[in-house]
Amino acid sequence: MTATPLAAAAIAQLEAEGVDTVIGTVVNPAGLTQAKTVPIRRTNTFADPGLGASPSWHAFAIDQSGIAFTDDVGVVGDQRLRIDLSALRMIGDGVAWAPATFFEQDGTPVPACARGTLSRVEAALDKAGIEAAIGHEVEFLLVGPEGGRLPTALWAQYGLAGVLEHEAFVRDVNTAAATAGVAIEQFHPEYGANQFEISLAPLSPVAAADQLVLTRIIIGRAARRHGLRVSLSPAPFAGGVGSGAHQHFSLTTPEGPLFSGGTGAAGMTPAGESAVAGVIGGLPEAQGVLCGSIVSGLRLRPGNWAGVYACWGTENREAAVRFVKGGPGSPHGGNAEVKVVDPSANPYLASAAILGLALDGIQREAALPPETTLDPAKLTDSDRDSAGILRLPDDQAKAIAALDGSALLRSILGDPVVDMVVAVRRLEHERYGDLAPEELADKFRMAWSL
Ligand code: GLU
Ligand code: MG
Repeated sequence: MTATPLAAAAIAQLEAEGVDTVIGTVVNPAGLTQAKTVPIRRTNTFADPGLGASPSWHAFAIDQSGIAFTDDVGVVGDQRLRIDLSALRMIGDGVAWAPATFFEQDGTPVPACARGTLSRVEAALDKAGIEAAIGHEVEFLLVGPEGGRLPTALWAQYGLAGVLEHEAFVRDVNTAAATAGVAIEQFHPEYGANQFEISLAPLSPVAAADQLVLTRIIIGRAARRHGLRVSLSPAPFAGGVGSGAHQHFSLTTPEGPLFSGGTGAAGMTPAGESAVAGVIGGLPEAQGVLCGSIVSGLRLRPGNWAGVYACWGTENREAAVRFVKGGPGSPHGGNAEVKVVDPSANPYLASAAILGLALDGIQREAALPPETTLDPAKLTDSDRDSAGILRLPDDQAKAIAALDGSALLRSILGDPVVDMVVAVRRLEHERYGDLAPEELADKFRMAWSL
């Protein structure tokens, strides 16, 4: 694949608008956002042939130093990071940004690359005549420059006080997002003290994940301008409210949408039902990709609206898949929100897993389990058992083992991806599995921050 270079006039235009630096980013299997930068005149070189990066980038762990080497990823070799010029955005203050993809030096795709993996899943859907859209939600906590708790006196759940307290930050994010072409649908204070949420407009899968990464960059930069930082930990403070990274997905064929206007449950078509069934059935094996970090388990508790029960329900916030019906109140149409995903996940891989499971469900015409219409925690164990509702484990070791042994996830994501996710998560477990919840939350509060 050879990128079309930017014309000299386009580069000159960027320079005339004050851009001097281009940042390219990738997200690794541990959910870390990694970057290289070039001066503006090197933009086309960053796109092709790209900049060198060691394969160990895939293996870097969340503790600022660990490397989860595997048989395939070691100290030898050098890959190329290529920015996608078609996704280049000016993000203000002299900086442009573009998402990057890993290639080998000969130009072939690197199988462990998250962005490349999601592109492959998107292509598989396309081949099956299905177009997907994903809408990301970004929950985050504002914290002090060292990651400490900000004052909480002026906070109520979804309270206006939070907006007014951080009004300059909120406005700054909205302005910066508009400049960068990020489509914020809403931005509001959340349940937890100093916790906010941004909902992003749905886009095709790779573009949506790119937009999510850019949003994280935007909120990280805006927070800095106000002497603050952003925590993207799933469990910023032990015992407190967690942060999710819910992904809403919808599917469309030439005949129409699969989640609206159908004759099945909640307005789904038969294929839509099978897609949701595929996702629910695959959750235990996909958990390591969706919410598999060492702190993810601290959030995965009933009552946290994290969706720890592998079931589905219309507008059910305790179901792993909350179904949102199409209709006048949902202008984007019916969609399925996968609630278990958290911000420690690689968003490209999480989307790839979700969409791959949906496609698998469609292809084998999986049967949708009955809808769960109440809080699954209110059911007795035997009721949940007979309804086939599993509680997803909060034990990281179990999630890793299920992923490692999953032929299905291996067929969707490829062995190199699964092996890398397993390796980085296993390193976390081996090194930090003995820490108490408070120690874990404190240690990794800023691990995914930008
Ligand atoms: N903060 C919750 C989570 O950890 C989600 C709250 C909501 O439903 O928006 O997923
Ligand atoms: Mg929320």
